Amino acid sequence: MKQYCVGVDIGGTSVKIGLFNVGGVILEKWEIPTRKENGGVEILKDVAASIREHLSEKNIALTEIIGVGMGVPGPVMDDGFVEVCVNLGWKHVYPARELKALLGEEDLTVSVGNDANVAALGEQWMGGAKGYDSSVMVTLGTGVGGGIVEHGKMISGSHGIGGEIGHITVNMNESRRCNCGNCGCLEQYASATGVVAVASKLLTEKDTASFLRTFEPLTAKDVFDEAKKGDCLALEAVDILGKYLGLTLSFVTLTVDPEVFVIGGGVSKAGPILIDTVEKYYHKFVTISEKHAGIVLAELGNDAGICGAARLVME
Ligand code: ZN
Repeated sequence: MKQYCVGVDIGGTSVKIGLFNVGGVILEKWEIPTRKENGGVEILKDVAASIREHLSEKNIALTEIIGVGMGVPGPVMDDGFVEVCVNLGWKHVYPARELKALLGEEDLTVSVGNDANVAALGEQWMGGAKGYDSSVMVTLGTGVGGGIVEHGKMISGSHGIGGEIGHITVNMNESRRCNCGNCGCLEQYASATGVVAVASKLLTEKDTASFLRTFEPLTAKDVFDEAKKGDCLALEAVDILGKYLGLTLSFVTLTVDPEVFVIGGGVSKAGPILIDTVEKYYHKFVTISEKHAGIVLAELGNDAGICGAARLVME
């Protein structure tokens, strides 16, 4: 009987893999390095070998596995096609098809999705959005990712870029360029690097006394820690983040109107100060209805990816 599934979260430096039972409990999780050389040709071979090895250690046959779900850091089309995945060196691949062939089990379901979308699915299944039918997750990490889940399904769009919330333009007057080439993306203010860039700019422009001047290098955590202590410049950087993220969530609300927003990623460890600031602006920008989505913190941390990936094949 099929009673397990495997979730794989492929990142630029490591691949996280989890073995789940059908109830969503993680039975084992482990990591392997991501070998990006030669256009990333070894990555899926390593994943397949690692899955085989761990299953055999546990005396579980591939025939007992419902499927293997996978999250990858790039746009994924509905048919599983990945045009380009810069962080992995991939170009024009069908990762699910390839992994299925490598595992060589005809009966196995293998699925792939964008990592941020997959993490959103994980948070809805077992995390901050558990119990909700529609949710949007925003991951504030080195960059800003997003994922939309409607009626339990990920919405990745017609070109695989649905939910790329981090690259919504929030400031038309910005002259600094985002990694995507555009100027004024949410990511430039709400990612870990974005918060630091905003705070550093404030420190250069103003001569206000601030403890932020004593940090070298300055991190996003320093900015939030000092804001919590009442440092005016740190509070201003957090307010700018809250304003642009609140504005973005208002755009998303007026487009897909989810029941709840889940905020995850390293920056979300700042906790209530982040949620409170975002909420303040979000409610200000959404005036068309009195009923608004809740904004909650993510709960699964680094496990959201493997959890959502496992969920992908469990439907
Ligand atoms: Zn951008």
